[in-house]
Amino acid sequence: MDMRLTGRRALVTGAAGGIGAATARALAAEGVRLGLLDAAPAVAVVAAGLVVDGVPAASACADLADPDSAAAVVDALIAALGALDLLVLCAGVSGPVGTPIEETALADWERVLAVNVTGAFLALRQALPALREADAPAVVVVASDSAFVAAPGMAPYGASKAALLQFARAAAVELAPAGVRVNAVCPSVVDTPMSRGDLGLPGGFDGAGYPVQTAAEVADQIVFLCSPRSRPVNATAIVSDFGVSAGSGFPA
Ligand code: NAD
Repeated sequence: MDMRLTGRRALVTGAAGGIGAATARALAAEGVRLGLLDAAPAVAVVAAGLVVDGVPAASACADLADPDSAAAVVDALIAALGALDLLVLCAGVSGPVGTPIEETALADWERVLAVNVTGAFLALRQALPALREADAPAVVVVASDSAFVAAPGMAPYGASKAALLQFARAAAVELAPAGVRVNAVCPSVVDTPMSRGDLGLPGGFDGAGYPVQTAAEVADQIVFLCSPRSRPVNATAIVSDFGVSAGSGFPA
């Protein structure tokens, strides 16, 4: 299927690895020109490998939770692209996974909210003037199934993803008259450096006993939501959890 994305310009946050890097690769394969943002310098390596129409992806390093840095790098990347049609907000941290609420430090709670929620707000706010100028602009927020369901020891993360998802819905409603679509993806476990670290599985998920998807599979969902092919889809969340959250506690 032609996703009708050729020649469009996208900014992807959290693009140094995992889902963000996979999304950058998938968008580049569709002929999308890219600006990549991450706190990790490795984002420059990802960018150098993604050449579209002879032009390598632009990249910039910044802590998205810092308002001044976020504004400066978003502006710089949009300037490098010349315009902006698509924004993928993927940067995130998992925080103190496995820590009970009474042992969770305020600083850890605040950092998770600052990166996952405030960082997305700052990036979208800064990118909006450019997106309003675009033809068929789309924003995709990488939330999580943790916006809907909970596991012990992940309270800050779950709270941040629920807030992020509602921010995406609020933005979608507010921006619909301007033609800017905002949707979210909410995957369960994805095989990335984050999940391997959180679950203590440096070698990966073989034999895990629960369903795990690849970062490339999440990227496919994001590409669809970026594409004009999903034009009627707005203010929604793709929950890709293999149907697990639909299960009942009824012992049938
Ligand atoms: P990852 O750790 O590989 O990628 C996250 C990226 O965000 C990293 O490159 C990191 O450097 C960047 N980042 C972190 N803090 C930042 C900041 N303050 N400013 C700029 N960049 C920052 O992990 P991933 O699994 O690819 O996660 C990507 C997104 O997907 C996250 O929002 C995560 O919550 C979400 N998610 C992951 C899973 C999973 O199982 N891996 C499941 C659901 C949702």
